[in-house]
Amino acid sequence: MTMTPTQAIEFAKDQHCEIVDLKFSDILGQWQHFSIPASELDEDVFDAGVGFDGSSIRGWQAIHTSDMLVIPDPSTAVLDPFTSAPTLSLICNIIDPFTRAEYSRDPRTIARKATKYLQSTGIGDVAYFGPEAEFFILDDIRYDQNQHCGYYFIDSAEGQWNTGREEFPNLGYKPRYKEGYFPVPPTDSMQDIRSEMVLTMAELGYRIEAHHHEVATAGQAEIDMRYLPLDKMGDALMWYKYTVKNVAHRHGKTVTFMPKPVFQDNGSGMHVHQSLWKAGKPLFAGEGYAGLSQLAMHYIAGIIKHASSLAAFTNPTTNSYRRLVPGFEAPINLAYSRRNRSAAVRIPMYQGNPEAKRIEVRFPDPMCNGYLAFSAMLMAGLDGIDNKLEAGDPLDKDIYAMSPEELADVPSTPASLEEALAALREDHEFLLKGDVFTEDVIDTWIDYKMRNEVSALRLRPHPYEFALYFDA
Ligand code: GLU
Ligand code: MG
Ligand code: MG
Repeated sequence: MTMTPTQAIEFAKDQHCEIVDLKFSDILGQWQHFSIPASELDEDVFDAGVGFDGSSIRGWQAIHTSDMLVIPDPSTAVLDPFTSAPTLSLICNIIDPFTRAEYSRDPRTIARKATKYLQSTGIGDVAYFGPEAEFFILDDIRYDQNQHCGYYFIDSAEGQWNTGREEFPNLGYKPRYKEGYFPVPPTDSMQDIRSEMVLTMAELGYRIEAHHHEVATAGQAEIDMRYLPLDKMGDALMWYKYTVKNVAHRHGKTVTFMPKPVFQDNGSGMHVHQSLWKAGKPLFAGEGYAGLSQLAMHYIAGIIKHASSLAAFTNPTTNSYRRLVPGFEAPINLAYSRRNRSAAVRIPMYQGNPEAKRIEVRFPDPMCNGYLAFSAMLMAGLDGIDNKLEAGDPLDKDIYAMSPEELADVPSTPASLEEALAALREDHEFLLKGDVFTEDVIDTWIDYKMRNEVSALRLRPHPYEFALYFDA
């Protein structure tokens, strides 16, 4: 149900909403919000927008130009499932109050521009995205803020094998190391909580395909949404994270989307299925390798060519690179394959029908801002199509089992966030086409990440340094 402003106002009245919550994504992909009484909601709110101070939002306006406007998108109207007062939720775009121009650092605006760019090329009219965001459901996380060094341990009812927590009474039925995928309850103690997440997503209008426990022992989970057009999936991923966190919170638990919270256990990835369509026809199905079209092969070549630069958006944290190591089902080599789950791009072979033909990009992780990560991947794929890039030969062997000599020619994912940001600095022309990303957005991203994450981490003594050096 996509609504006009009038319909959204009617809906709020019918549902006896008392509050209207205005949500928007900051550049990192966290929802920010503020609320107005439902009595204030009129057509003007959708037209003129509502002002807020943009200077306190991470990575946005400097103090001298801090006024900004949110323009609520009526087509996103839905009841917020987590509030006590009946609340209409609206996702917003950001504009400049003086020029009324779209704000170039608004991730949702970037996603809408990416779709428009796709349409302007004539290649296709819709890009479908289907992310599989994994996460951990934990009992607790404890910090020792000494020197803000953040020494911590995580505490999980299921992850006793990892955390070494002493538990009395110990009721047994713990998932064994590497065996979280996927025994029935009572070993899987997260069934009901995941089901509640799924049912809440359904209430919000999202179609869920499956949910299950993942391989790691400490309550690792995965919920798969049915694919949607790029900008709609950007919104959906925001609802997904919000729902997953809030349902966990309701159960006295906590969720992390950190890609590698537990040393030597599987991390959390976010494989992203993607395909292009034109006039209702799938463009990725064809007669080539693994039933792909030539166009799909060029798209893959674009993803692989720009992968290091893309990683700055798809794997945007220092922690992301602790996941991209051998042995935990995370891809490290930039290659494609029809079956091989160790390749960065896999072509799923389950379905024979052309509609289902898609590629699965496996290196992204769930810390990414979906609006930016999906847009950047689309731009890389389109660049591949535009320049008729060749993807080379598929890698149908188990990459983990290949010798260093055999792998010498296969490029790998960046080893650190710093490397990915350096790659983005060098290679971002493809993102600027159609003004989808701007130089300002790229610079802001690199500066923000270097200053607040890469350098901030480098300056701090690491807990493991104490183990290595303290009494040496
Ligand atoms: N958790 C794995 C990763 O880090 C993926 C496991 C799977 O194939 O779903 O990418
Ligand atoms: Mg998975
Ligand atoms: Mg997958």
